[in-house]
Amino acid sequence: MIKKLLKRVFQQSARTRVEGRCHIIPFDVHGVSHEGISYAARRVTDGLQAAGFAAFVVGGAVRDLLLNRHPKDFDIATNATPEDVRRVFRRSRIIGRRFRLVHVMFGEDTVEVSTFRRMIEEEDAETDEHGRLLRDNEFGDQEQDAARRDFTANALFYDPATQEIHDYHNGYADIRANTLRMIGDPAVRYREDPVRMLRAVRLSAKLGMKLDEATGAPIAGMKELLGNVPQARLLDEMLKLLLSGHSLECVKKLREMDLHHGLLPMLDVILEQPMGERFIMLALQNTDQRISEEKSVSPAFLFAALLWHEVLSAWKVHQAAGESPVAALHAAMDEVLERQHAQLAIPRRYDAIMKELWLLQPRFEQRGGQRPIRLLSQPRFRGAYDFLLLRCESGEVDAQLGLWWDEFQDATDERRAEMLMQDDEPKKRRRRKKPGAAKQDEKTQPETATQTESPVQSEFPID
Ligand code: ATP
Ligand code: MG
Repeated sequence: MIKKLLKRVFQQSARTRVEGRCHIIPFDVHGVSHEGISYAARRVTDGLQAAGFAAFVVGGAVRDLLLNRHPKDFDIATNATPEDVRRVFRRSRIIGRRFRLVHVMFGEDTVEVSTFRRMIEEEDAETDEHGRLLRDNEFGDQEQDAARRDFTANALFYDPATQEIHDYHNGYADIRANTLRMIGDPAVRYREDPVRMLRAVRLSAKLGMKLDEATGAPIAGMKELLGNVPQARLLDEMLKLLLSGHSLECVKKLREMDLHHGLLPMLDVILEQPMGERFIMLALQNTDQRISEEKSVSPAFLFAALLWHEVLSAWKVHQAAGESPVAALHAAMDEVLERQHAQLAIPRRYDAIMKELWLLQPRFEQRGGQRPIRLLSQPRFRGAYDFLLLRCESGEVDAQLGLWWDEFQDATDERRAEMLMQDDEPKKRRRRKKPGAAKQDEKTQPETATQTESPVQSEFPID
């Protein structure tokens, strides 16, 4: 196997051209056809090249194509300035103040185009007291643009016109050897930007690449530097990690590398709560599964799952203090969200959905009268039901409840009428029953109704 690989790499290098410090790898060596490039990205490289500029697909997309994966998006790097790019494409706009990028629009597709950048030389670099780069926004040439990237596998340039790959850091051989390797001195690169430690974990888990030893080694001693990274950026990276489709693997790796414990508040929530651990692991597994099936996943659902057990315990405390279940749940939600806003920087825009998912949970327990029908018509029913299934799977509530809802949502009207439990709707809100309705209620299965222990009693208000 290794012999074969060496032979292939050797044969390939025989056909690879060297220009300066760049290795140019032709199509018949790497085998990535321009058909793998999106129509919009191709139009951008063609347009820029026709106007006399250099233009390449760069970064994650080239790496993913070489690994036979479907790229998330296609980023373009060019020697054209943002103003040049704007002149070439009418439907485009310059975005970003710190580093200006251009978004070029083709139909529904938007392609991000960035001008080659260089890493600022050490003496000119603006850093914080720990060496973290505060600015890296100078234009540069292609070689400099390759050097400022993080991993060798992320620093390849693909030219769709010639189908050649430009490689300055041996990234092609590293990808073929399934190795994720930092460009330059890993310790220096982590100091410049500590988020690269998280990227190392996420990308190696997501791509199934092994972390080169020298790249992984400094992490243990440098992890404290994550404390200097702005919360919003950490949250951003944590979200990428949790929504990578390999969240379980990532979390396991972070734990192995001892990157939790106070450094990443989100991870503390995930790993440091004994009660909710099973639930959270199931939520992550479920998220990974949905991504592999190309189903949508929402950050709000994930946050709601991560915080559910905190809400549950706060809810209990408030109820024990004599508050009604509804008031107690509202108080618990507000309390947990307030705390987490401060700690995790969870954007407030997710609050409404998280609260809806939580507030609908007790309503699954109520299976009498018209209430299940009303619950089904809630816009957030689907998400809340998925959330309920996680609770069942984790053993928090009886699996019967999930099975009941599974059947009820697709059942015929007759079957639904049979399934409805004796109506336990509060008396003051009970409407006059139609003749015969009481009989129908008697046909329900009382055992199932009592099997599920609900923290909420029947006075929970409906709608
Ligand atoms: P993904 O598939 O998750 O999008 P990606 O490698 O494309 O992975 P992006 O965040 O989209 O990740 O970044 C695009 C490219 O920008 C990377 O491939 C890498 O070359 C460069 N890059 C991103 N973050 C950093 C960083 N912190 N330091 C240096 N280069 C970076
Ligand atoms: Mg990307």
